[in-house]
Formats: sequence, C-alpha cells, structure tokens
Amino acid sequence: MSRTFLGLPAAPPRAPRSTGNLRGSEPFPAAAHTELGNTQLRRNVGKATRTIRDKRLAVTGELPDWEELRSAGAAVKADVLARLPELLEQFEAAVTARGGTVHWARDAAEANEIVTGLVRATGSDEALKVKSMATQEIGLNEHLESEGIAAVETDLAELIVQLGHDRPSHILVPAIHRNRAEIREIFQREMPGVDPDLDDDPEQLAAAARTFLREKFMRCPVAISGANFGVAETGTLSVVESEGNGRMCLTMPETLISVMGIEKLIPAFADLEVFLQLLPRSSTGERMNPYTSMWTGVTDGDGPQEFHLVLLDNGRTAALADKVGREALHCIRCSACLNVCPVYERTGGHAYGSTYPGPIGAVLTPQLAGMHEQSHDPNASLPYASSLCGACYDACPVKIDIPSLLVELRHQHVEQAPPRGEAAVMKAASLAMSSAKRFTTAQRAARLGRVLGGADGRISSLPPPLNAWTGSRDLPAPPRQTFREWWDSAEGRGTIDEARRESRGGAQ
Ligand code: SF4
Repeated sequence: MSRTFLGLPAAPPRAPRSTGNLRGSEPFPAAAHTELGNTQLRRNVGKATRTIRDKRLAVTGELPDWEELRSAGAAVKADVLARLPELLEQFEAAVTARGGTVHWARDAAEANEIVTGLVRATGSDEALKVKSMATQEIGLNEHLESEGIAAVETDLAELIVQLGHDRPSHILVPAIHRNRAEIREIFQREMPGVDPDLDDDPEQLAAAARTFLREKFMRCPVAISGANFGVAETGTLSVVESEGNGRMCLTMPETLISVMGIEKLIPAFADLEVFLQLLPRSSTGERMNPYTSMWTGVTDGDGPQEFHLVLLDNGRTAALADKVGREALHCIRCSACLNVCPVYERTGGHAYGSTYPGPIGAVLTPQLAGMHEQSHDPNASLPYASSLCGACYDACPVKIDIPSLLVELRHQHVEQAPPRGEAAVMKAASLAMSSAKRFTTAQRAARLGRVLGGADGRISSLPPPLNAWTGSRDLPAPPRQTFREWWDSAEGRGTIDEARRESRGGAQ
C-alpha cells in the first residue's frame, strides 16, 4: 500500500558548507581591510572598472530602446523562474532527443563526482576548460586535481589566475587585479617553454598564451564548459566570449561536458535576441561579443561526438523558494553591477570570499550557501558590504533591485541571529524609558561618560559590547546638563521667555 505524506515539505537544501567556493575564510570587513592596504590592486581595479564603465555607458546610450530591452530581459527571467520545473523538463527532453545526456546534480559534491567520472571515462588525465562560473562555484578544478586530473583553463584571464595560483576577483575579468608586468612575470615563471625575453606588450602576452594552449587543443580529448544560456525549446546551449579559445574547446575535443546552473534557462530561441544585446553591452561595453558559440546535442562527424550536460542546483532551489530573494536568480553574470560599485572598486573581488563578488555576489552567495546563524559566518557579513547607493540597480540589464535584496537579507540575518549586545542595550533602554524616575536617573548616570570624551567632546572607544558601535563611528560625549535640567535653569527660562516675547512681537 502506498503511503501519503501529509506533513510540510522540507526546505530546499542550500549549497553544502564544505565543498566549493561560496564562503570565504573571514568576514567581509576584515578581508576588505587587508585588501584596502594593497594599493597596486586598488589602482588596477579602479582603472579597469572606469574603462569598462565608460564603454558601457557609450554603447547602451546609443540604443533608443535600451530601457525596453532591460524590461524584456527582466520579464523573460521572471517567467523562467515562475515555471522552472516545467522548462527544465522540456530542456532535458530536447537535449536528450539531440543525442546529449543530461545529469542532475543536487550540489557541488555530486556535480564534481559526475564530471570526474565522465572525464575518467575518456581515459584522459587532462581536461580543457572554457571559463565557467559554475565550475568555479563547485570547486571543480580542485576536485579534479585531487583525483589526478589536470584542468587547464583556456580563457586568457582564467589562465593567468590559474598559473598565478591565485583566485578570480571579477566575474568577467578574473585577473582584473593584475597588470601587464605582473602577467609577464607569471608567464615567465609558470608557462613551460615560454620565451625568456617575453615583454609585457599585450600582443606578445596573448601570443605566448596561444602557443601554450594550441598544443593542448590539438591533443586533449575532453573539454568542460559552462553556459551563458540554455534554450528550453531547442536544447541549445550558448557560450559568449572574446578570444575564440572557448570555441576551440567547444568544437575540437571528442567529449564535451557542460555544467550549467538551472537558472540559466531561457524559454525560446527567439529570447536570445534580447539577451545577446543586453549581455555584451553591459559586460564589456561592446555592441556584440566577438564569439557566440551555440551547440545542440551532437552531430555526426562534426564537433564533439559525446555531449554531457550537468544541471546544477547547489542552493538554487533554496533561493527560488525565497519569494524576495529569487529575483537574484535573474542574474546573467554580466558584471555591470561590479563595475559601478564604489565598495567593489576599492576592495576588489577577493574580499567577498566567494566565486560571486560585488553587489550581486553579496546577494547571491548568502542565498545559495546560506548565512548560518553563527555571527562569525563570513557570508552573514556580505549583505552589509554595500553603501546602498543604488548604482547597481541602475546598471543591471535585467533590473535586479539589488539594494532592496541586500536590505531584505540584512533583515533575515537579524531575524536569524539578533545581535546580542544590541538586544541587551534595547532591553535596558526600554526599562529606563518606561519610568520618568528611572529615565532621569539613567540620564544622570550617563553623564559620567563625559570622562571618556576627548578634547573635542567625542568618544571614539567604548568597552564591550558597546565597542561594536564605536568600532566604526564616534559618539558625542553626554552633555553637561540634561534637557530637563536646562529647562528648569535660569538660562533655560530666560531663553524661553525671550522666544515667547519674540513670537508675540512677530504676531502683532
Ligand atoms: S546582477 Fe545584474 S548587473 Fe550584476 S552581474 Fe547580474 S545581471 Fe549583471
């Protein structure tokens, strides 16, 4: 006899705490403090973001229907998330009908296992990679390495990060924190067979990377990609990029494995018309990205003969279940919000501790991986990593209201883990204010705090738990007199009488 479950369904799982790159090792303020001390990084990031910002404004300004395009993008994404299960099934059926194999991964650990098994089945101990945020999110490179498989990044910026044993610091330009001299030094140190006289001219650096990668493209039988979009209607996947290395990965190996977050779906092929205008203009400030690759299943004698698609959840259904936070899943990872963010511009991406930095990372990371109740969870500090200036909302091509989402996450965090010091202070204030006598006594007692004020009458350091307040701002020293004392004094009475006389005079 079958059983009927009448209880409440369990909450969808968040991304696991231990696998992947969705949680840093220290809270944002501490990490940002370290990064702020790196003047070279601030100079590199500031210069690059200013350049991309100006280009984006120029190319978005030339489209008379830019606002309509943004609205269309937002509407398509809202539609996708409203009927995600149905579209995913349609997508799976379309991919399978075209000769692809679809795998479902609940979390990072499952996705890593699936991809490792697929690479191993090809007999190769090396796999090429097209730049992919999803595989960074799940820590695929690290997992493959632990299994004796070398993952080789083919996007130039990703290659610089990989050879430099570094971490990406930007969604689109992962090596934004490096300048040309640093890149030359990394290539000379890490790239086998590189010209020892290599100079830091961008063309020479690109040529060195090309030579290094060409040999791999010719030899490696398996590649791993991400996907910018998956079309439910046709089972088509798409990757947009600037260098053509991605296209080599997508066409040359025998086996292609794509890892795609389930929110990257769009319903119909025609919807690409909207997103292929929004994405390049918002991300690199170009009218059209140089390479747009699309593939649908496998084709006899042309391109990879085996195609596997790993559909990744890793906390996405948990974000989807949050009716406010689900808007973050509209993100098409263009990075426009990073490039306009005054906080990101000063700290760079590493301070966020996640694959997803910047304003959208501050929303998406806690949504995917949770802000565990403990106040020391680094993810719990991310919603506060913003001045809420609103520039990210203005820049976002799919109109994600990032500032409102950050405020909502702050609210959720306080609900989950009310700051203990603040709660105690509020309780004490409520007790004092509920009786005039107690309030007067408390005011008199507070006057003792004048001894803590400096010559300028400001208190810049209080003992715990009040140090949480003075850690980031000064407090005026308590006044010599309370307002009631002043009101009852000769000076107060004189001032009030004078004000009365003036007001009577003005009324005549
Ligand atoms: S939130 Fe908007 S602006 Fe930021 S990366 Fe995503 S789509 Fe781009």
